[in-house]
Amino acid sequence: MRKKIVAGNWKMNENLQEGIALAKEINEACAADKPNCGVIVCTPFIHLAKVAEVLDQNFVALGAENCADKEKGAYTGEVSAAMVKSTGAQYVILGHSERRQYYHETAEILKEKVQLALANGLKVIFCCGETLEEREANKQNEVVKAELDGSVFNLSAEEWKNIVLAYEPIWAIGTGKTATSDQAEEMLAYIRSIVAEKYGKEAAEDTTILYGGSCKPGNAKELFAKPDIDGGLIGGASLKCADFKAIIDAWK
Ligand code: 13P
Repeated sequence: MRKKIVAGNWKMNENLQEGIALAKEINEACAADKPNCGVIVCTPFIHLAKVAEVLDQNFVALGAENCADKEKGAYTGEVSAAMVKSTGAQYVILGHSERRQYYHETAEILKEKVQLALANGLKVIFCCGETLEEREANKQNEVVKAELDGSVFNLSAEEWKNIVLAYEPIWAIGTGKTATSDQAEEMLAYIRSIVAEKYGKEAAEDTTILYGGSCKPGNAKELFAKPDIDGGLIGGASLKCADFKAIIDAWK
């Protein structure tokens, strides 16, 4: 049975003290009432080492939101996959639409990042998703397939075991506009079918695929009830412990 996961993506919001406090609160909430799914919090780089100290990673794993596309050296301001790993983090989000859109991360750059993350023992939460314009033109499947083809479908079957996919339609991120559970299910089933073409049916059945985009306590249960939706990648609602925990509890 593939792993169910609820992952938070804090983005650029909390300062260090706020981040530590939030991580402690989430850890305590999950210690008091054990989740029925894997829980991950993905934080900005500056939080990682300190947040690692307050999380019991047996039930709340730590992840980063990015890593460099170079191994090491004179790359001012960059943070390598090895540096992320050394903080105690186990995961890294790559391919988020905000990175593609605002920081011009191409499929080729993301391919490098994915390789380096895996080579350094990190698991990758790889994001894909279409713009509103692309959906209106009914190009969503084509766009998502191209994103996966360009950056992760080159991986070996062994490497694939460390990939979690997240479908995040750009028009649903931070907009309050969630994809309907049927729209999300339709895309996740499609993604699973192309994973099956590439890695075989068994590997596809074992691949965790998340939905992200305005996922909240009020809609999580309906989304997670769909057969191909294995959990959520949560932005805004991961910044409030009560909301994040309520989404985690949608698996109960
Ligand atoms: P929101 O949950 O704020 O829409 O963000 C989703 C997201 O981008 C998670 O990576």
